Amino acid sequence: MTDHKFVYEFSEGDASMRNLLGGKGANLAEMTGLGMPVPQGFTITTEACTQYYLDGEVINDAIKAEVMTYITKLEEITGKKFGDPANPLLVSVRSGSRASMPGMMDTILNLGMNDTVVEAFAEKTNNPRFAYDSYRRFIQMYSDVVMEVGKSYFEELIDEMKEARGVKQDVELTAEDLKELAAEFKAQYKAKIGSDFPSDPVEQLFGAIKAVFRSWDNPRAVYYRRMNDIPGDWGTAVNVQSMVFGNMGDTSGTGVAFSRNPATGDPGLYGEFLMNAQGEDVVAGIRTPETIDQLKTENPAVYDQFVEIVSKLENHYADMQDMEFTIEEGKLFMLQTRNGKRTAAAAFKIACDLVDEGKITKEKAVSMIDPKQIDALLHPQFDAAKLAAAQPIGKGLPASPGAATGKVSFTAEDAAARGKAGEPVILVRLETTPEDIEGMHYAKGILTARGGMTSHAAVVARGMGTCCVSGLGEVSFAADGKSFSLGGKTFTENDWVSLDGSTGNVYGEEIDTVPAEVGGYFGRVIEWADEFRTMKVRTNADTPADARQAREFGAEGIGLCRTEHMFFEADRIAAIREMIVSKTVEQREAALAKLLPMQRGDFEGIYEAMEGLPVTVRLLDPPLHEFLPTDEDDINALAAEMKLEVAELKEIIASLHEFNPMMGHRGCRLDVTYPEIGAMQTRAIIEAAINVQKRHPEWKVVPEIMIPLVGEVKELAFVKKIVTDTANAIIAEAGVELDYLVGTMIEIPRAAITADEIATEAQFFSFGTNDLTQMTFGFSRDDAGKFLDAYYQTKIYESDPFARLDQNGVGKLVKTAVDLGKSTRPDIKLGICGEHGGDPSSIEFCQQVGLNYVSCSPFRVPIARLAAAQAALKAK
Ligand code: ADP
Ligand code: MG
Ligand code: MG
Repeated sequence: MTDHKFVYEFSEGDASMRNLLGGKGANLAEMTGLGMPVPQGFTITTEACTQYYLDGEVINDAIKAEVMTYITKLEEITGKKFGDPANPLLVSVRSGSRASMPGMMDTILNLGMNDTVVEAFAEKTNNPRFAYDSYRRFIQMYSDVVMEVGKSYFEELIDEMKEARGVKQDVELTAEDLKELAAEFKAQYKAKIGSDFPSDPVEQLFGAIKAVFRSWDNPRAVYYRRMNDIPGDWGTAVNVQSMVFGNMGDTSGTGVAFSRNPATGDPGLYGEFLMNAQGEDVVAGIRTPETIDQLKTENPAVYDQFVEIVSKLENHYADMQDMEFTIEEGKLFMLQTRNGKRTAAAAFKIACDLVDEGKITKEKAVSMIDPKQIDALLHPQFDAAKLAAAQPIGKGLPASPGAATGKVSFTAEDAAARGKAGEPVILVRLETTPEDIEGMHYAKGILTARGGMTSHAAVVARGMGTCCVSGLGEVSFAADGKSFSLGGKTFTENDWVSLDGSTGNVYGEEIDTVPAEVGGYFGRVIEWADEFRTMKVRTNADTPADARQAREFGAEGIGLCRTEHMFFEADRIAAIREMIVSKTVEQREAALAKLLPMQRGDFEGIYEAMEGLPVTVRLLDPPLHEFLPTDEDDINALAAEMKLEVAELKEIIASLHEFNPMMGHRGCRLDVTYPEIGAMQTRAIIEAAINVQKRHPEWKVVPEIMIPLVGEVKELAFVKKIVTDTANAIIAEAGVELDYLVGTMIEIPRAAITADEIATEAQFFSFGTNDLTQMTFGFSRDDAGKFLDAYYQTKIYESDPFARLDQNGVGKLVKTAVDLGKSTRPDIKLGICGEHGGDPSSIEFCQQVGLNYVSCSPFRVPIARLAAAQAALKAK
């Protein structure tokens, strides 16, 4: 496809071309169109990236030629020439995908430099230090990207040099030092790669472009995509942009700024800059930057110009902007703008403020918040009493709010491993790099010695909703990296630390945390969301406490009340065990009679907590053997209670063993074999409802009884008859009026594809997408962890089907069941109660197929309310 256009000058694009040009490229184009000072350049499209992979990871000749045409155009615009020592064009090569992936891709600055160019450049600028600084940065970034050794590798060489010279700051290194560093970097390159560092700018350019394309597939990019639901086939664009220099001396500098405070949402410019610095110096936290206000004194004219641009950009995009800029010898250049990442608290405040300022509608306010972020708002805070008794041992920057307590971990791998195993850990690092992302994800909190509010650690932690304190310079690490000292105490990985991400305080002890409260701006937005939402949001709750919590978060009913969890409590498990090992119906009924009042009490508590809202109770579901005693004492006690020989009891226990319990004697099969179980549970549900209805005539209690694991309509009819016979008899005997519904879970593929038959018996369907996913894929959730990683690496799967509904497969079954169910029972009530009920992308799917409600765990209820509103707005 030779006539296909793969390259666009900034002046040829605009913000609407994000899919093609990537976020960075589209916004550079938009700023160019707005007449802002943007160093000119061009964007190689995301389609070129896709083409690169289609062609077997090569840049084809047509694309190469097109890029060279645009280099020529750029030479004309800038009046400089690529590789010409007399007047060199130097460029940056910057990645930029559709969705922003901070720090996931690598940027190369000062490309076009070589031994000849740098000499001439030193002479021309009359600033050898600057020339060699630019050169060594280029070699460093290029080598890092090509060699994939990680940024710290070269930073170590710089640190060694600084130590040898007895200086603390990069800026104190002389031109000669930097020249020596450049040579050293090139030697490292040759040693690792086996060939000389490329001196031809064109070769450098294509090497860099290729590296950006390749970085789309590096493990941390793949991991980030999986975490953020970004499809692997989007590809990244590449921006080639003429360089401006913030490292030219004391009238030059570079910085980042937000149009509002990204931590609190407070209005007003917020940012940091460094004079005589380039690129990522500010975010890398190598020197501690100055706050943006100080630019007012440093260069008032540039400050005023910048403030004007910021306000123009914010109004233009109608959202808080995150911008990068460079000042070259007193002249301002804009290098990037995008909708800024922000904490959950800031997201809600900004949305409300923008509505109040008349800049956006309520619909936009609801749509602009990432529902997953709400999690952070619901995150723990320190127990106030415990906090009052604790003394901070240090104070860093409040980089990402929330409170965290855990044991020290020094490496990302360690944090990931211990975090996965359920241990609360705090990742303590000099600074973080994109390689650390998985460890950061599993850590309860992050503490760094270096870095400002816009450092990598801070940005990524805020995005994840993880508590972070950055830039605590007093943290000093032992040489072996296995301990650090702070506030006169040494900490190893067995020690507790606690972080307050809202104040920056660090404590050298464990401090209990408590759940957060919600309200204020959050409350306003979530109420708007409820106006637009068409699906109901229910919760999965097994106890009155969970039910109340969910009500506080706005749950409109219970979509799944599991009865088995109630059985594990110490006083009940004995009765359950008696029931399981009973040899006769009489024995079993006697055991069930002990359970009846307990279950009835449980349900009364739940109905009370839900104040007349619908409650779906699922009959006993798990394999019986889960309840069996395993230790000798329990077995002896049970034998005594049941008046059985121990040996005989052990035989019964052995007979209950199952090879594949997940597909064994469980769900409605229990009621088919032991109808008295279903009868007892129905009695408990109905009697509880009658009692609560009597106490609260103003409510309308309508129990929904759900029969699990149905795969065949006759099986459902059989169990349903037990339920209705029992319920009708109780209601008649009590002489009251009580409506109730009987429905089923759709969690076996056979139920989904015979849903028209099932619906003749079921008054409602609730999609149990955990089991439905297991049964459709044929692997269990508990075992999938062992091999799913390999599936992500080989790109067979992009995301965990248990976290995000597999719309293609499992979703097709859901859709089929919805359509078939409605065909025989048009008014059938439809909901979902698997984990997916709290996942935004799955919620959108539920909206599309026409479910009436989603049900999720209490802490996900606010997320689901917002996600459901967004789904409804999208469907409009
Ligand atoms: P990221 O996506 O990681 O933020 P960028 O492509 O934005 O990477 O580049 C990182 C930094 O490099 C920018 O913040 C900017 O300071 C600097 N930079 C990029 N291109 C140029 C350029 N043409 N001139 C000067 N600095 C640049
Ligand atoms: Mg970066
Ligand atoms: Mg950037």
